[in-house]
Amino acid sequence: MTIYPVYTRSFFIVLFSLFFLLPKGQLIAQESIRFKTVVIDAGHGGRDPGATGSKVKEKDVVLKVALKLGQYINEYLPDVKVVYTRDKDVFVPLNKRADIANRNNADLFVSIHANSIGASSIYGAETFVLGLHRSEENFEVAKKENSVIVLEEDYSTTYEGFDPNSSESYIIFELMQDVHLGQSISVASMMQDQFHNRVGRRDRGVKQAGFLVLRKASMPSVLVELGFLSNKKEEAFIASEKGQTFMASALFRAVRDYKNEFDSKSKMDDHVQLNRESEKQSISSIVYRIQIASSKKEVKKGTSFYKKFDNIWMYKDGDRFKYTTGQSDNYDDILQQMKTVKKDVNDCFVVAFENGSKIRLSEARAK
Ligand SMILES: [Zn+2]
Repeated sequence: MTIYPVYTRSFFIVLFSLFFLLPKGQLIAQESIRFKTVVIDAGHGGRDPGATGSKVKEKDVVLKVALKLGQYINEYLPDVKVVYTRDKDVFVPLNKRADIANRNNADLFVSIHANSIGASSIYGAETFVLGLHRSEENFEVAKKENSVIVLEEDYSTTYEGFDPNSSESYIIFELMQDVHLGQSISVASMMQDQFHNRVGRRDRGVKQAGFLVLRKASMPSVLVELGFLSNKKEEAFIASEKGQTFMASALFRAVRDYKNEFDSKSKMDDHVQLNRESEKQSISSIVYRIQIASSKKEVKKGTSFYKKFDNIWMYKDGDRFKYTTGQSDNYDDILQQMKTVKKDVNDCFVVAFENGSKIRLSEARAK
């Protein structure tokens, strides 16, 4: 009985801390979004060699560049967590690679590849974002990268009958709306700038095509083709230690610049929220919604994005257009609705509005 008062006091301190700190902690996690995790995906591996040059295989050179990129991030951006889909010569199915990124709540997915083509004179680096190919040439790259699924067991079931060589299969990429497209294009452009301006590679540009490896990744994601192993000079560059260091450094600088841009935008969003908070509002009518997308460009009504989600409601925050779905005046109810939305948008979160203006979640819940 003598220890009872001591026990009680610490018990109350814990209880107190939980009561006051937990909601605050959750709030920070939801509103102060920072770039924390990058998933680096070295293409192919194990029984899948990828493209083959006269001396090297794609699976080996891309692994070396992937590991170097991870090493630079660990060294120079210590607050960013690096996750590899493979760090050795093993076979990883395409859908598992996106799973790894989703499970780790990655802020960016970078799939690294090297190309090969019949005409040995073709060379240069290119970066792809997910979408429907606009040219035969881009379609060929997607076909080649997707055809590795035939090495997987029961691929027809896993990929719902997707035939990597049939153009009809690619219609899914037209129907889908990638809410992260803007951010993916932004990071892809940074990578191409680095390849061209800092490493002096031939810039083949940012392109769009339907890659299965990017399809299920619910974050900005890009597929980099470092160069052509079918071109003698380019193969020698990519196969060399120096070439791998150059390409990994270029990728590192692009990831770093993207992270800086991402973090400064989040800071700006926080600032806007703080300003809104200081605007006193007397009439209380709280509405909760689920935020699913944020974009610099306005998404047109009637596009597949609008068709995919019910009751899309857009609001402007600074220079960004933000999109929400669902609606309720009850917090528990909106959490319930969010469970379904999460299946499509892994990083969605609840936002609160009072008379049409965004307010802090904590403020809404206190009313
Ligand atoms: Zn590849």
